[in-house]
Amino acid sequence: MVPKVIFGRGSFNQLDEIIAPKRTSLNAPFIFLVDDVFKGNAWLTSRIPLSYDDRLLYVSANEEPKTSQIDDLVEDIIVSSKKQPSGIIGIGGGTILDIAKAVSIMLTNKGEASDYQGWDLVKNPAIYHVGIPTISGTGAEVSRTTVLTGPERKLGINSDYTPFDQVILDPELTKDVPKDQWFYTGMDCYIHCIESLNGTFLNAFSQSYGEKAYDLCKEIFVDNNLTDEESQDKLMMASWHGGMSIAYSQVGVAHAMSYGLSYLLGTKHGIGNCIVFDQLSDYYPEGVALFKIMKENHNIQLPQGLCANLSDQEYDIMINVALSLEPLWENAIGKNWKKSITPQVLRSLYEKM
Ligand code: NAD
Ligand code: ZN
Repeated sequence: MVPKVIFGRGSFNQLDEIIAPKRTSLNAPFIFLVDDVFKGNAWLTSRIPLSYDDRLLYVSANEEPKTSQIDDLVEDIIVSSKKQPSGIIGIGGGTILDIAKAVSIMLTNKGEASDYQGWDLVKNPAIYHVGIPTISGTGAEVSRTTVLTGPERKLGINSDYTPFDQVILDPELTKDVPKDQWFYTGMDCYIHCIESLNGTFLNAFSQSYGEKAYDLCKEIFVDNNLTDEESQDKLMMASWHGGMSIAYSQVGVAHAMSYGLSYLLGTKHGIGNCIVFDQLSDYYPEGVALFKIMKENHNIQLPQGLCANLSDQEYDIMINVALSLEPLWENAIGKNWKKSITPQVLRSLYEKM
């Protein structure tokens, strides 16, 4: 679990007082990893408390994080810092938050980021790391994973050392998110709820969080009678609760197949999940029916024909990535999932996307 979190509009202003006591020495910098969408945005960047040798590194969220990108960032930080940094502060969406988590792990663990993709492979605690989301939905601010695309697979570094030591939830930071992106990342949260609540790993803990997040998503995306501020506040809480729900259970079919799309075609997580989920009425009938209503409510057109021109070999790559995510299938279908989830079944689903 994330041990410390503050919530509230304007709470970003407390960053300085929160991190100052965590500075280990004057030569040990804080490294701020900030989504480059905020370059030149003084409203946000003027409030980042840089002092001594601290560094602000702008990072692009145009592509999802790669293990090689983490290795390069870690090397840059080691070479340019006189001492082990005091901490890593990630400011951005799921992409930047995952990069911040992975970098903080790799500053204290030998080898390459790809060595740690999997479950509980991290040996040493990460350095102090703080997450500050600027878009809501992924739950990356609360989860125990950082999802990375490596040379062989797209898979998270799932470990007890991955979660942030501190999170600052300031919904005001999400006010300028473009509408389509708001929907795609928000639907990631909705899909987390559906996959968790309909999964075989469900338990009272994940259920209580999942139901709360599901209700908030309905208020935001179906009822449509919230002010912008209420909607921002509620989606930030929904994201947190959805993340908590899957932390204690698991995601399912949409995520497994979306990882395949992302690995082969670079399709981003939020939109990829939407494209897959749209075709999953056989697996999540009620969830998909409500999703279609939300899509229509907000006038969202999903891309079509993504897989139209793929070769057999390319289909196989996607199918193998999806099938390798065994815990997701076990959660979605049950222990005997291999009987019903075959390469042919996935191929015919991908062909519809
Ligand atoms: P993102 O971080 O990729 O950002 C999406 C777009 O929104 C980017 O163009 C970004 O620059 C922009 N943006 C972000 N904040 C903004 C703001 N305030 N104003 C204007 N533009 C803004 O999107 P995401 O959907 O939050 O994250 C997706 C990533 O999260 C994927 O890499 C996925 O693998 C990862 N993920 C991780 C977890 C986890 O538990 N670790 C869970 C789900 C997804
Ligand atoms: Zn997700």
